[in-house]
Amino acid sequence: MIATRDPATGEVIARVHGANLEDVERAVAEGARAAADPGWCDLLPHERARYLVRIADLIVERAGDLARLQTADTGKSINETRALVASAAGTFRYFAAALETMEESLTPPRGPYLTMSLHEPIGVVGAITPWNSPIASDAQKIAPALAAGNAVVLKPAEWTPLVSLALGRLVTDAGLPPGLLSVLPGPGRTTGDAIVRHPGVGKVTFTGGTVTGRTIGAVAAEKIMPVSLELGGKSPTIVFPDADLDQTVAGVLFGIFSSSGQSCIAGSRVFIHADVYADVLERLVRHTERLRVGPGADPATQVAPLVTHAHRDKVAAMVDRARQEGARVRCGGRAPDGPEFDRGAYYLPTVLDGLPNDSATCQEEIFGPVLVALPFTGEDDLVAQANDTVYGLACGIWTGDHRRAWRVARRIEAGTVWINTYKQFSISTPFSGMKASGIGTEKGRDGIRSYTRQKSLYWGL
Ligand code: NAD
Repeated sequence: MIATRDPATGEVIARVHGANLEDVERAVAEGARAAADPGWCDLLPHERARYLVRIADLIVERAGDLARLQTADTGKSINETRALVASAAGTFRYFAAALETMEESLTPPRGPYLTMSLHEPIGVVGAITPWNSPIASDAQKIAPALAAGNAVVLKPAEWTPLVSLALGRLVTDAGLPPGLLSVLPGPGRTTGDAIVRHPGVGKVTFTGGTVTGRTIGAVAAEKIMPVSLELGGKSPTIVFPDADLDQTVAGVLFGIFSSSGQSCIAGSRVFIHADVYADVLERLVRHTERLRVGPGADPATQVAPLVTHAHRDKVAAMVDRARQEGARVRCGGRAPDGPEFDRGAYYLPTVLDGLPNDSATCQEEIFGPVLVALPFTGEDDLVAQANDTVYGLACGIWTGDHRRAWRVARRIEAGTVWINTYKQFSISTPFSGMKASGIGTEKGRDGIRSYTRQKSLYWGL
């Protein structure tokens, strides 16, 4: 049994059966049966699309419960979990619409034959997701995989299985064939590994840490199986002197402290031009100190507790290491005071500076509410520092000069670059990481194609 706790109080809120190897066997076999022809994969695209719309409708109908459940399970603020639930519904609607408009290609003959290129479902897809935004990451994998005609075996993170289990029930309630989606909570090293290695699983789509991604990628290589890996980040946000500084400070703080910094795209290193360094740093610290720390269930909370006490302690240890590396702690750097914080996994939003970019603090993902400020002088110096990381997930550029924004955006190694905004998403815009931030793309029209195998037919005339 897996006990899941409310991070705001430390109380156990549910005990969940951890899936064992027999459960994995059964889920893959049932998935293969449900997806196989004649079955889910045999439905016409508009018929499958209708089911996806029904799932979206049910998510909207149950939005309040799903958001509260995710807040209790992950600690996230209720405003954020409401937005994540809405985005999950939007994801199912988007892939339903994309499915209806997808066409196979028939190429005019270049000889005495017709050629046809078909995209066929893979069969059973293994989806493995992290704890930081479960319903949104689950939807981004389940919706396109089902749309393409596959079955899905989903393994949510062991700390936060509740909303994924609720999504599984909801998919059954939407009338999809039993076994088409199985949700198997359990430890990564046993349940997750068994899904990845199972010969009946034809593709794995993974979101999580880079170390785990490397392990899964190695198994996929052994199996010669397609894999998509959405991994970690250490994303730079860049402040030029000509930026609108009020908007910039709000954007930089949102980029790091929303989700309490537990976000793959968190803008955790802020590069500030030397001319405005002191001014911007002072503003960042002043506004950080005013952020309201509290339980996720309170709509006024801006920085909620971290996902578990163990994770909070890990973040605290990384800040202690930053101190040993010579960091100046400008604010935060500890758990908040007060009896209301005693039982929860709280950590104050923290701003550090005084560290070089090659310090461990600036190179390793902290996955908590910790921002490091670094000065820069010229564009070449900036680009070299910003790109000097194994990761390449995201970047924010704050400037009033659109030519400079374009120039720098082109030189930055990141799958997503925001200019004068941060952490905004559209389901129609592809998302991927460069370097150790991953391989493969999610979202966008091609999202469905990534869950298919391509077959070419030559038809003699
Ligand atoms: P994690 O890698 O520890 O775990 C992710 C999932 O993988 C969990 O479900 C876990 O149980 C499972 N897992 C662990 N070992 C496994 C194995 N050997 N085989 C199969 N499955 C295994 O990551 P986490 O701590 O849950 O999440 C935080 C990480 O996720 C951060 O590094 C963050 O940057 C990353 N992330 C990336 C994105 C993105 O889109 N790029 C989005 C969110 C989170």
